[in-house]
Amino acid sequence: MPTLFEKIIARDIPADIVHEDELCIAIKDINPQAPIHILIIPKKPITRVGEAEKADREVLGHLLLAGGKIAADLGVLSTEKGFRLVINHGKDGGEAVPHLHVHLLAGRGLTWPPG
Ligand code: AMP
Repeated sequence: MPTLFEKIIARDIPADIVHEDELCIAIKDINPQAPIHILIIPKKPITRVGEAEKADREVLGHLLLAGGKIAADLGVLSTEKGFRLVINHGKDGGEAVPHLHVHLLAGRGLTWPPG
């Protein structure tokens, strides 16, 4: 059974795509928590970060590098602005979609600690 994000990658479900390359796709979150809220999703359906394997090292690194590139594209790379990358794992982590994704949040001052 394909995940929601596999369906988006396959174009079976529409999404607002802001970046795509051989390893990942990045879309606007449907329920944004900040003026900029992007999901960076590996094309390989790794279920969640804690279940990634050594063989996924390249993909995992790629997601962070893509985050920096997308932040630059969206004009928030400078330390004057800035952004946050978040990965939710499991119930307490706030995970809703069991297909690894990195949230890129920006466009307002983000509080710490998160809720
Ligand atoms: P998480 O809670 O870390 O699993 O994040 C899942 C995210 O996917 C949430 O921020 C949702 O708003 C987002 N989401 C769910 N369905 C869609 C969709 N069809 N298109 C874009 N984002 C979605």
